[in-house]
Amino acid sequence: MLNLIFFGTPGAGKGTQAEIIAAERSLFHLSSGSILRQEIESGELGPEIKHYLDSGTLVPDSLITTMMENAITKNISGNGFIFDGYPRSISQAEALYKFFENNNLHLNAVINIEISEDEAKKRILLRGKTSGRSDDNPEVIAQRFKTYHEQTKPLLDYYQELGKIININGEPDIETVATNINQTIEEIKKPLQ
Ligand code: AMP
Repeated sequence: MLNLIFFGTPGAGKGTQAEIIAAERSLFHLSSGSILRQEIESGELGPEIKHYLDSGTLVPDSLITTMMENAITKNISGNGFIFDGYPRSISQAEALYKFFENNNLHLNAVINIEISEDEAKKRILLRGKTSGRSDDNPEVIAQRFKTYHEQTKPLLDYYQELGKIININGEPDIETVATNINQTIEEIKKPLQ
């Protein structure tokens, strides 16, 4: 089993890369943002959740933790997971750590996709033209970055201490970034063979 967290600012390319790598390696792509958007479309908690997404702030930890743990449990017999957009706070990371321990799961690495904030913002605005996402506009984007700096970025230190961080340059084209991520995954897997 291979379990990876894809980490980065909004617009770094986590979702794009997670989709590619998950398909190539038959891993389960678990995007917290997608799960929340589905819940808004058709779930009971929709109205409560929409408010957070539309303001660029985090959905409460307890809610997201329950949703993610349910999604992991459903797919636990597969080849592993790519977490995209989760965890996003220290408290979420601690909950995931405990859940992994209780379920005998191992976190292999945190793939930190690095791009400049200017480039990330450009990409999100471009995506906004076709994504239909109500949070891909300048005001909410600014808040999403603020949330990232205050609540999510501290996870880099958290996972650094656990020796899990692998930095990937997210600036090149999609294919190049995917190739580079795949190379690091091969490196991670070597000691297991
Ligand atoms: P994303 O699709 O990853 O860009 O997430 C879109 C929005 O969903 C974020 O701005 C948050 O409001 C919410 N969200 C996604 N993942 C999480 C998470 N792990 N914890 C709390 N809120 C989240």
